[in-house]
Amino acid sequence: MSWLDLPPGSPYGIETLPYGVFSDSPDSPRVGVRFGDQVLDLAAVAEQTGQEHADVFAQPSLNALMTLGTTRCSEIRSWVRSLFLDRSRQEIVSPHLFAVDDVEMRLPIVVADYVDFYASESHASNVGQIFRPDSPALPASWKHLPIGYHGRAGTVVVSGTDVVRPCGQRQAPTESAPTYGPSRRLDIEAEVGFVVGTPTRLGDRVSTADFGAHVFGVVLVNDWSARDIQAWEYVPLGPFLGKSFATSISPWVVPLDALAAARVAPPAQDPTPLEYLADRDPWALDLTLEVEWNGEVVARPPFASMYWTPGQQLAHLTVNGASLRTGDLYASGTVSGPERGQRGSFLELSWGGTEPFEVAGAQRTFLEDGDTVSIRALAPGADGTTVGFGAVTGTVLPAR
Ligand code: MN
Repeated sequence: MSWLDLPPGSPYGIETLPYGVFSDSPDSPRVGVRFGDQVLDLAAVAEQTGQEHADVFAQPSLNALMTLGTTRCSEIRSWVRSLFLDRSRQEIVSPHLFAVDDVEMRLPIVVADYVDFYASESHASNVGQIFRPDSPALPASWKHLPIGYHGRAGTVVVSGTDVVRPCGQRQAPTESAPTYGPSRRLDIEAEVGFVVGTPTRLGDRVSTADFGAHVFGVVLVNDWSARDIQAWEYVPLGPFLGKSFATSISPWVVPLDALAAARVAPPAQDPTPLEYLADRDPWALDLTLEVEWNGEVVARPPFASMYWTPGQQLAHLTVNGASLRTGDLYASGTVSGPERGQRGSFLELSWGGTEPFEVAGAQRTFLEDGDTVSIRALAPGADGTTVGFGAVTGTVLPAR
């Protein structure tokens, strides 16, 4: 039991302890850990107690911490736990606690490279039917490799950052020529992101078994998508400007160590993938996402249903010898389950805009200016606890 009381069932208890970068006033971003509804200033506590990594916690990103490697990070997590469990630490720790509502959360990592996959069979099948009704729903390669694309690292933003409606070129099937203007089909994609801590050398591969040796933790991702721009531009090289204007992530990075109890068996794969994609110790995770549109929950996508595991994605991403850097982020692709209420995009929920549905009393298909979307997730934690992910939230501003 901690000396600091939390409400029973709090998703930010001693088994969660996610890291983030926070700033109070005056502006001084540094590393904190969340416990309940408070943030502990790890830089201050480490310095006061002579902990050897005080300099790492004083940084304005988690990158220096993540560079220490998974073994050292697990030891640091034990030290953080002791701060809350050992009553003799109360006097040192208490003065360095801030209410989460009183601090500003920053982008937690310096994003090195950003990759987005397409790993939900339900999502890929739905999008295939909507975008290419006259072709097979799944591309021929879909069950042989985790399909992905390189996104734009520099436009990954932290939850709470407003998203300006993108402008671009589009041509609807009913139009005879392309036009330029604000996207008319702005959408979200509810995803789970994996943050790389331990880098690799150029030319090396990461096996599925080494997933845990390279990935530091997990965030929630909203891959904002302009469907009209995307539909007109994506053949043959994949998403470009329809995606690159903004990608939001949650401010709290949940360490892999917090997710051991959430591991589940992934869906069976048929056909059996090539040997480099065999994942004998998979990190499929039982996360239930919740997509909230203007205060109303419109979907609960199940991450456990994803066809490709995060270990397979990492193995595929590096199979050609592409190196990893600390701060690399790769996202799962839209999480959609087989039920309508489990679809992780409005493209799917409205079936390409043809089936409007009710949101907060209005009939809706795609996002309007002023709309706010929040994505949350919970996972089973150790000893019957619940592990929470901070929400990833964004509000749409008019095009400019
Ligand atoms: Mn995506």
